[in-house]
Amino acid sequence: MMDFTLTVYNMLSWRKVIYGTVLGCVCITADSVMTMPFVANNATLRAITDNAGHALIGFCTWSAVSGLDTTNSVLQSILCGVFASILDIDHFISAKSLKLKDAVSLPSRPLFHATSLIPVIASVIALIEYFCAGKYRLKPVWLIFTTAWLSHHLRDAVRRGLWFWPIGSTPALPYWLYMICILSLPVVSHLIFKLTATMETERAASYNQI
Ligand SMILES: [Zn+2]
Repeated sequence: MMDFTLTVYNMLSWRKVIYGTVLGCVCITADSVMTMPFVANNATLRAITDNAGHALIGFCTWSAVSGLDTTNSVLQSILCGVFASILDIDHFISAKSLKLKDAVSLPSRPLFHATSLIPVIASVIALIEYFCAGKYRLKPVWLIFTTAWLSHHLRDAVRRGLWFWPIGSTPALPYWLYMICILSLPVVSHLIFKLTATMETERAASYNQI
């Protein structure tokens, strides 16, 4: 009970509440900028603004998880932003072209936009991390990756829904539902982060006892 109370207290620290609020403001601002005529009418600017929005939202989402109070947490947040941004590279892979015009005019959604792919890639990263325990400073990379890609998919889902290949897609998410999901994401990630850290400490303790 004490542990749970402490976890809730840590989750609701003022620093994290502020980062959560910043995350909400960044989401709304990023989408408002996309509707400005000089952005909306320019394909290059639209693509750059959209991708920068994904990167910034990824960064803010992990900032709300980590508290952005150590060098490690800053690096983790940057990694989350990079993961959220780099996802869109699949547009170029599917188009087999480096031209933006080809990348944004695909007949179907490219592979990395399949939400069903996230647990597969996250499991592979988790396995690598498990067998290379202690070698990476930025762990848990699998959770940072999952948070980043989910934040990207949720934002895209406002226009096209979530795509669960091979089953199909959900309807487009209403904006209010997107906001609830995106603001809940750091809370859920933080709980899993704490759980993972506890399990890792116990694993290290039992390993030292052998
Ligand atoms: Zn996308």
